[in-house]
Amino acid sequence: MPTEQEYKGRCFCGAVEIRVKGAPAAMGYCHCTSCREWSAGPVNAFTLWPPSAVTVTRGADQLGSFSKNPTSVRKWCKKCGGHVLTDHPLWGVVDVYAATIPEFPFDAKLHVNYGETVLRLHDGLVKQKDMPKEMGGSGTVVPE
Ligand SMILES: [Zn+2]
Ligand SMILES: [Zn+2]
Repeated sequence: MPTEQEYKGRCFCGAVEIRVKGAPAAMGYCHCTSCREWSAGPVNAFTLWPPSAVTVTRGADQLGSFSKNPTSVRKWCKKCGGHVLTDHPLWGVVDVYAATIPEFPFDAKLHVNYGETVLRLHDGLVKQKDMPKEMGGSGTVVPE
């Protein structure tokens, strides 16, 4: 078996450092209103990992946390405000924002919550209206 690849990540100021290892369960772009309002950006590039694959290696005490609903616990660095990750406890995965792990070869496979989009992207990837069926969504695919 090949050794599991590791990638380091950090918040905007570097007070918080993380490490992911192995391969994510899924990666793509989320267009939901929550991601937009929290990130102040039109789209969130996500990578979903099993919790055991994600380690906070520095500054765990600097991580702030906010949960608007039970599906997402959003975490950021209290020093710089930089976003780090979101726990999705009901789905058993952690979203490490692609921007937080710049060396990871991000390769989007789908768009989720495209029904809420404000920025249409014509990249030929599948556009889920909400979430795939296996993640509790409708599985409905919508046009670009
Ligand atoms: Zn920071
Ligand atoms: Zn979202």
